[in-house]
Amino acid sequence: MAKIFCIANQKGGVGKTTTTVNLAAGLALIGQRVLVVDLDPQGNATMGSGVDKRKLELSVYDVLLESASIAEAKVHAEKAGYDVLGANRELAGAEVELVELERREARLKAALNAADADYDFVLIDCPPSLSMLTLNGLCSAHGVVVPMQCEYFALEGLTDLVNTIKQIHANLNNDLQIIGLLRVMFDPRITLQQQVSEQLKAHFGDKVFNSVIPRNVRLAEAPSYGLPGVVFDPSSRGAQAFIEFAKEMVARIGTMK
Ligand code: ADP
Ligand code: MG
Repeated sequence: MAKIFCIANQKGGVGKTTTTVNLAAGLALIGQRVLVVDLDPQGNATMGSGVDKRKLELSVYDVLLESASIAEAKVHAEKAGYDVLGANRELAGAEVELVELERREARLKAALNAADADYDFVLIDCPPSLSMLTLNGLCSAHGVVVPMQCEYFALEGLTDLVNTIKQIHANLNNDLQIIGLLRVMFDPRITLQQQVSEQLKAHFGDKVFNSVIPRNVRLAEAPSYGLPGVVFDPSSRGAQAFIEFAKEMVARIGTMK
């Protein structure tokens, strides 16, 4: 059975897409079969996996509107080592179109059910909002991975996200749980980041992943080459941290109910 995770945080620019593609590449590297679902109309996870969003024949949009299956719409990202259900601007329209439809929040879940046997992990890159698209992601998933920067306001935003996840757990998806909080773009020289990191651990305990992703320019450069950092420069500190994180994820899944 595939384990399905949303990479979510309602803030933009916090490292969701970077986490999605690098965790996917790290999992692929250790032999896992991975599908990345790009639920953001910006299509950054698609491009960052080396798939041209302007040339997609079918995308997650067609899957949400039930005119294609995942098996039909997915593309193999050769260099990245995993499959991608891509997205582009067209997906922004789905937001409006879905409102009219029945089972509008459960469409992705139904499509993923049909692809369950093909993957060990499905990673869903969510847009920076709590939209119908994010709701489709959260209704499909077993868990949420929350990337966050250790900044002052990060903790405030987290409360909203935790409450949203609780509500969805209670009303729409009993499986949903927070798998963990991932500290990203971390710079240990900054005292505030250390302090926020300590607060996170005090508050969330073992929900905070042991792996920490450092701020590393190679991770930021990789998307312009259409590659996850883990593939672009495997020996960089950023890539190494994501490979460690992939291993931690596999271990954590082993202990999940
Ligand atoms: P989101 O998907 O949450 O909007 P992104 O993953 O696109 O965030 O990251 C925002 C920006 O920060 C991007 O330009 C990305 O390349 C850069 N970035 C993300 N993680 C790191 C990191 N660990 N070190 C350096 N730059 C990073
Ligand atoms: Mg993104």
